[in-house]
Amino acid sequence: MTSSTLAMPVGTYQSAWVDDQVRMFRNSVLQFVQKEFVPHQDRWREQRYPDAEAWTAAGAAGILLPDVPEEYGGGGGTFAHQAVVLEELARTGVHFGALIQSVVAHYILAYASDAQKHDWLPRMASGELVGAIAMTEPAAGSDLPAIRTTARCDGDHYIVSGSKTFITNGHHASLICLAVKTNAKVAGMRGISLLIVETQNLPGYRVGRSLDKVGMHAQDTCELFFDDVRVPAANLLGHAEGQGFFQMMERMPYERLAVGVTAVATAEQAVALTTQYVKERAVSGKPLIDFQNTRFTLAECKTAAHIGRVFLDNCIERFIAGQLDDTTVAMAKYWLTDCQCRIVDECVQLHGGYGYMTEYPIARMWADSRVQRIYAGANEIMKELIACSL
Ligand SMILES: Cc1cc2nc3c(=O)[nH]c(=O)nc-3n(C[C@H](O)[C@H](O)[C@H](O)COP(=O)(O)OP(=O)(O)OC[C@H]3O[C@@H](n4cnc5c(N)ncnc54)[C@H](O)[C@@H]3O)c2cc1C
Repeated sequence: MTSSTLAMPVGTYQSAWVDDQVRMFRNSVLQFVQKEFVPHQDRWREQRYPDAEAWTAAGAAGILLPDVPEEYGGGGGTFAHQAVVLEELARTGVHFGALIQSVVAHYILAYASDAQKHDWLPRMASGELVGAIAMTEPAAGSDLPAIRTTARCDGDHYIVSGSKTFITNGHHASLICLAVKTNAKVAGMRGISLLIVETQNLPGYRVGRSLDKVGMHAQDTCELFFDDVRVPAANLLGHAEGQGFFQMMERMPYERLAVGVTAVATAEQAVALTTQYVKERAVSGKPLIDFQNTRFTLAECKTAAHIGRVFLDNCIERFIAGQLDDTTVAMAKYWLTDCQCRIVDECVQLHGGYGYMTEYPIARMWADSRVQRIYAGANEIMKELIACSL
């Protein structure tokens, strides 16, 4: 049994959004990830980024932009297909920025011109272009209206100056969805716009080192620097300046729900891995599973993961139907990632000292999980959003 097939549904439960076509897609994703990504994980972790060829291989296998229309080179599927990609990456313990690729594609799909969609999306689907979304700055994370990167209009170009930090896919990024201040005189959110920046051979653009993270070592997270970078004015997303903050708020639910997908798949996998481990590991002459504490802990973890699964599935179905509200997405992002971290932490405890050794998948899962509560909007911000609905 491969590690990715360990996590099984509870009883006869089946996710309603997984039909035969999605199941077939899952099989092809799993085969690809097992063959092309899993064997390289140690090296990717060591170098702190995936190989450049991984992007074109993923594109050729149909892993990138699975929920973008076929006319733009995508897979023509729904969020169900995106969820399957994220689940299989999570279960195999592979960190690869396929989600961010899709997030950027959906900004383009929603706000770019048709000519731009035809230009950028097929190249993103093939992996020729690697996407990044660059909002966060050293002094502006949760407080996005405080960003300082500016874009000054100069004829038919913007001149961009500033820096970004913590940018996923930063090392390979060739198409950046960049949050900038187009009007420094307008305070707060109304001065923000989004620009698409093609970085190849772009004077004034520089990528910093891959940042040294606690976990997710195989995925690149970088600083980006813009020193009077010229970007065509036509690359402004939307028809007018000042729309960026509202565009981000409109698109964030996609990313937040996707983070929830990874949270549940990781929690399920942690329970499955640990169940197998406690059956094999003997202490005081008997398998760990024979201790009541082990059984009760895993019973609680399995129950929590299943509650998360049912809630997530309901969110996915409503999202695909276009009926998921922002408050519920915020609930899913915060609750599912908190739940993931609690479950994985309990599973580490059941592994004893081996749970703290990075050669054990559960230890890496623990280190990788922590950031889920921080990015895509910290969980405290999610609670503020939920509280707004009270
Ligand atoms: C591995 C990784 C990958 C990332 N990838 C990207 C990326 O691809 N693109 C990108 O743009 N960014 C990315 N980020 C940045 C991420 O989105 C931010 O780290 C996150 O939004 C939090 O911002 P901050 O780090 O500045 O923390 P701060 O905003 O300084 O927050 C610190 C603490 O204060 C709390 N806090 C802040 N405001 C409030 C409030 N109003 N009420 C209550 N509590 C509050 C927060 O919840 C948090 O606990 C990534 C970060 C990491 C670690």
